[in-house]
Amino acid sequence: MTAFLPFSRPTIDEATIASVADTLRSGWITSGPKVAEFEKQLSAYFGGRPVRTFNSGTCTMEIALRIAGIGAGDEVITTPISWVATANVILEVGATPVFADIDPVTRNIDLDKVEAAITSKTRAIIPVYLAGRPLDMDRLYAIAAKHGLRVIEDAAQAIGSTWQGKPIGSFGDFVSFSFQANKNITTSEGGCLVLNNMEEAALAEKYRLQGVTRCGWDGIDVDVLGGKYNMTDIAAAIGLGQFAQLEKITAHRRRLAQHYFKVLGSDFEAKTGAQLPPAEHESTNWHLFQIVLPDRITRPEFMERMKAYNIGVGFHYAPIHLFKLYRELGFHEGMFPISEQVGRQIVSLPMFYAMTTEDVERTCAAMREVLG
Ligand SMILES: *Cc1c(COP(=O)(O)O)cnc(C)c1O
Repeated sequence: MTAFLPFSRPTIDEATIASVADTLRSGWITSGPKVAEFEKQLSAYFGGRPVRTFNSGTCTMEIALRIAGIGAGDEVITTPISWVATANVILEVGATPVFADIDPVTRNIDLDKVEAAITSKTRAIIPVYLAGRPLDMDRLYAIAAKHGLRVIEDAAQAIGSTWQGKPIGSFGDFVSFSFQANKNITTSEGGCLVLNNMEEAALAEKYRLQGVTRCGWDGIDVDVLGGKYNMTDIAAAIGLGQFAQLEKITAHRRRLAQHYFKVLGSDFEAKTGAQLPPAEHESTNWHLFQIVLPDRITRPEFMERMKAYNIGVGFHYAPIHLFKLYRELGFHEGMFPISEQVGRQIVSLPMFYAMTTEDVERTCAAMREVLG
């Protein structure tokens, strides 16, 4: 029997492991020079925009909402098909989540439905780039400008993705990334926020460490309620090693995605009733390779049968509005039919840096058996 192929697995090279060991021996293991260096390199990649790191991708979005002054009485529009963090941060700051249904092809939020959901209370949009696939960024920012809305891009999955040749994060309003273990580059846990100016960056620093501000040469004061969200130098050492490989990682994932399309063949959808992702290879970092299953097979059955071939399949995501917490806020089945259909049948096939084209072939062969 061939070895188990997980749907995702991080690859940490020996140089990175050595750098983590150096950090551990250095006597400085919390936020310090490695964090400063990581932020500097990220900022250069994002075209010189200010960047601050955090201990998760989730808190970066919460902090962006706080910097924007969004809270009770404000509405924030987002997608039902994301990790629950995307909507939780809206509740966390006391604002009201408003969902807009997705586009069935890209599986990202549908900008027509975003426009239809805007009210006099709308203050911001949190778009999600599912699987790393950007939206029509020109249209997104045109809508935001027209209605005076802030944008907090949940680019958790989108590092390395581009829009018209520019990296996601190098333009726009707030852009949030995650370095959680399964993301294209990782710090084990962590995240970063790209900001618009140094005033916002100073506020981000306060929110990530108890609201502390320095005054005078020996004093501190606290003038906003902050939390404890700073990244450690241990995490930043992993991040620096990973970031150095970003181009290689993205290029390999694009090769794997292309191989999936090639091996599955152009008649895969017609033969099986499954839906592939859009095939473009330039703008997407292929964080995930997701297909939507035909209705004749349930997701648990598909996952079980793939497991019999020793292949791991991921599930991203269940529609957020149908979770108990959100049902209790008044959301219910039938409100976002495309999200509900996609959320029922979507699966993530194996896709990670250490994977080979043979692994893709093995997965496709198993799928052919399972989907008939
Ligand atoms: C990973 C992820 C998050 C949360 O990031 P954490 O670092 O785990 O807090 C949020 N949104 C999306 C779309 C994600 O994929």
